Amino acid sequence: MNIGSSATGEGVNPIARHPNAHPALVLNADYRPLSYYPLSLWAWQDAVKAIFSERVNIVAEYDMHVSCPSFKMKLPSVISLKTYIQPNKYPAFTRFNVFLRDEFKCQYCGKEGNKDLTFDHVIPRNLGGQTTWQNIVAACSPCNFKKGGAHPKQINMWPNQTPYEPTVYELHNNGRKFPPNFLHESWMDYLYWDAELQP
Ligand SMILES: [Zn+2]
Repeated sequence: MNIGSSATGEGVNPIARHPNAHPALVLNADYRPLSYYPLSLWAWQDAVKAIFSERVNIVAEYDMHVSCPSFKMKLPSVISLKTYIQPNKYPAFTRFNVFLRDEFKCQYCGKEGNKDLTFDHVIPRNLGGQTTWQNIVAACSPCNFKKGGAHPKQINMWPNQTPYEPTVYELHNNGRKFPPNFLHESWMDYLYWDAELQP
């Protein structure tokens, strides 16, 4: 197990995200999640290994045991690192994070919740447009189709907001509206969007 690579939230085994896999929410030493997008979750096997190597504290547990001939323990549902890791200021350039920056809204017509949301190169690739934070926006299929390979100037189609590289903080703010599908109850105290709801 490599705490260093898991700590960024990248490369997490997708199986670890399934509730039946009893993933552990991983908090930094300040009790904030290591990352929100994706949410820092470790498979229980990795969490148990980290406990045995004394790199993490157990914060909360599932009501479920794992046992083998030499030991029996409750599966951890929340763990915290003993050593603080400086979080990244800028999030990874991923499809999900672009949608999150744009709040899952078409940047041309403003329609939201469209299941046919796509990505549009503002300056088309055939005109030298790059695949970067500054040139990719969320767009519904009809708008994307209408814009085609044209320069925004040619057809007067400009995104509502000039695309930019967001900070992790900005994505956290947008993420309040879009929590992950599965949240174990013991994680709630450590996820800001639930903390916000408390009186
Ligand atoms: Zn649209």
